[in-house]
Amino acid sequence: MSPLPSYLHPITAPTPFPVGPVNLYLAEGDPLTLIDTGPRFGPAREALREGLAALGYRPADLGRILLTHIHGDHCGLAAELAGSSGAEVLTHPANFPQLADYADERERRIAFYSALMQEAGMPPGGIAQIDRVQRGYGRFAEPVRPDGPLEEGMTVRLGGEEWQVLHTPGHTGGLICLYQPQRRLLLSSDHLLRDISSNPIVEPPAREGGERPHRLLDYLAQLERIARLPTEVALPGHGPPITDVPGLVASRLAFHEQRARQVLEALRDGPCTIYQITLALFPELDPINRFLAISEVIGHLDWLQVQGWVESQIEEGVRWWRSV
Ligand SMILES: [Zn+2]
Repeated sequence: MSPLPSYLHPITAPTPFPVGPVNLYLAEGDPLTLIDTGPRFGPAREALREGLAALGYRPADLGRILLTHIHGDHCGLAAELAGSSGAEVLTHPANFPQLADYADERERRIAFYSALMQEAGMPPGGIAQIDRVQRGYGRFAEPVRPDGPLEEGMTVRLGGEEWQVLHTPGHTGGLICLYQPQRRLLLSSDHLLRDISSNPIVEPPAREGGERPHRLLDYLAQLERIARLPTEVALPGHGPPITDVPGLVASRLAFHEQRARQVLEALRDGPCTIYQITLALFPELDPINRFLAISEVIGHLDWLQVQGWVESQIEEGVRWWRSV
């Protein structure tokens, strides 16, 4: 059986984000299903409209929208498309609060990130810059109330075939992949990208006062799981298809091990803040990439801490890390 079904069509849409274009997938059949929507951004809306038109459809023909995760480049147009077509919107329940209560959740996240950056030792000017960039990104998505869940263990019918829903937290807590076992075909969203190592972005606890999730640890576990899956081709959320999933996973795991070693190396001469480690590893970055770099350092410190290599303590609101 050919891995690529004739009912599944990739549509590429531009985004205003540094990651570049996003891949959306249209599954023909009843209901006509769109997997991810692209951001609320004129050129993306246009690319989607053209992509649908080339296959003989209009946005109003959509019957179902599946969202792989809550990032604006993947779900930003969901409200608009669901509104104009009546399509039902399905995604992992972990994404429900952020999708449905977009403005409040965004505020909660911005406050969480500000406190986290302060604890990381970032100067106030840098924190204000990150706040501004994050607020600016708000306009690329709108709130949408999901109609139902896509959870681990569920299957979803696309083009007459059963696809398994895999919950693969890491890049975000509510990220799902879809897997068609007979074709050994994986829709990997941002869990696995061929040309970019997908950043497991630090996220607030699901509930106020809860423990912050360790996204890099989640991510590494889910990478290993994906590598064990018999896969012919993975179709990702950005960039070209992946034909050697285990090989790519192995190189990602090696990359993270190397990064953890660099973080440990940065602590060789004594305790450092996360901000100092980030500057040592990535000296020149704009605000949004600095945020992503800090997130990456936090992930690797989580990993090193679990393995007993590092420990930290707070002094006057700033956390200092040292190797043990
Ligand atoms: Zn993403």
